[in-house]
Amino acid sequence: MTSKLIAGNWKMNGSLAANAALLQTILSGVRQPACAVAVCVPAPYLAQCQALLSETSVELGAQDVSAHEAGAYTGEVSALMLRDFGVRYAIVGHSERRQYHGETDLVVAEKAQRALATGITPIVCVGETLAQRDAGLTEEVVKRQLAAVIHLNGHCISEIVVAYEPVWAIGTGKTATPEQAQAVHAVLRAQLQAASTQAGRIRILYGGSMNAANAASLLAQPDIDGGLIGGASLKATDFLSIINAAS
Ligand code: PGA
Repeated sequence: MTSKLIAGNWKMNGSLAANAALLQTILSGVRQPACAVAVCVPAPYLAQCQALLSETSVELGAQDVSAHEAGAYTGEVSALMLRDFGVRYAIVGHSERRQYHGETDLVVAEKAQRALATGITPIVCVGETLAQRDAGLTEEVVKRQLAAVIHLNGHCISEIVVAYEPVWAIGTGKTATPEQAQAVHAVLRAQLQAASTQAGRIRILYGGSMNAANAASLLAQPDIDGGLIGGASLKATDFLSIINAAS
């Protein structure tokens, strides 16, 4: 049984001063966590956070990665560049990238493939909108999103992390109930099991307004292997409480 993973997604937040203060408080609280801990930081701060996290138990993540290897792709950051800064995880297919940057299931699968080929673990985000949930399409949507990644990555699939993030729960303070989340996680687990004999080691994280108060009940579900935390990862005390709940 792999340990749980608690990953912070800072999104487009932070500054040199704020990052240093946040990481200092987190590091003083997580000397020997019983779960894996990572922070996914904005690209300009990778060097700063790499330095602050070196020789600590907190790992470094990015929030996106280019699907391309190198070349004329203005504004993009390659997986090799991320590796240069000690990046261990890269979020791919976050709903904000799908929504505001038009990322398709295929692009997300290509990003996951590029990360895997470079030794970076992609955290593949899937999740339905409120309209899709209300229309009874949740299962169909998340399975389609995950299928694209499975299709392109074949036997490497056991190296990914999946994050189920219902779009209606992200940044809204509305969390999926533990039962709602578990039901979707079980669907994703079955899909992974059908694709790989190693599926048991794939972590499936829940994300969407996870916080200090609701983390324990979500993390107690059999198929919830950790959390992808947005807002609450920017407050050291909240992030530490969630890490404690996962340990
Ligand atoms: P939230 O964000 O915790 O602020 O809802 C989660 C995410 O978008 O990864």
